[in-house]
Formats: sequence, C-alpha cells, structure tokens
Amino acid sequence: MTRTFFPLFAAGLCPICGVEPLALIDRAKGSIVFWCPGCGLVWNSPPSGNEVNSFDGLEQTSPLGVTLPDRGEVAGIQGVFELPAGAWEEELAVLVQRGLLLPG
Ligand SMILES: [Zn+2]
Repeated sequence: MTRTFFPLFAAGLCPICGVEPLALIDRAKGSIVFWCPGCGLVWNSPPSGNEVNSFDGLEQTSPLGVTLPDRGEVAGIQGVFELPAGAWEEELAVLVQRGLLLPG
C-alpha cells in the first residue's frame, strides 16, 4: 500500500522529458519550485519546454526538503492545473525515501 499524494499541481513543460513539472514548496524559502518527476531537474518558475536552463535537482535547490502546496498556494501560477490522484506516486515515494518530501 503506497501513500497517495494529493492534491498535486503542475505547470510548464520539462524541456528534456516533455512532462509537466510538479509545483512543490521549498521548506526553507517558502517559495514554489517546479520539479520534473522524469529527470529530477528544478526550476523557480514553470519551464517553457524550449530551453534547458536548469541543471540542479532538489538536493541542490531545496536541501531542507519540500512539501506539497494546497490549492490556494498555487492559485496565481500561470497555466497551473491539478493532476489526477495517484499521478507520479512512485517518483514522489522516492522523494519521501530520500528525505526530500516531507508531510505538510
Ligand atoms: Zn524532465
């Protein structure tokens, strides 16, 4: 039985994987970061999908970890949408195992 990560929001497009990066909250900064569950790269704003302009993963950008945002916290993000429950469950479980995704 794996935990379901919910709700889950995404915006933009990863220039490497062509998937929509997830919106997460950097615990230390309190700001939203966009993490690609495919390649693990992180952006400060939703990537356009045209240009590879990030080379960092969460270990570099958010060493104190991230949490999942609620609906209000992502309301102002251009193009943000909610993913169906159960999306990227295995990838998010790996973040939990690595101590990077923390509850609330
Ligand atoms: Zn990617």
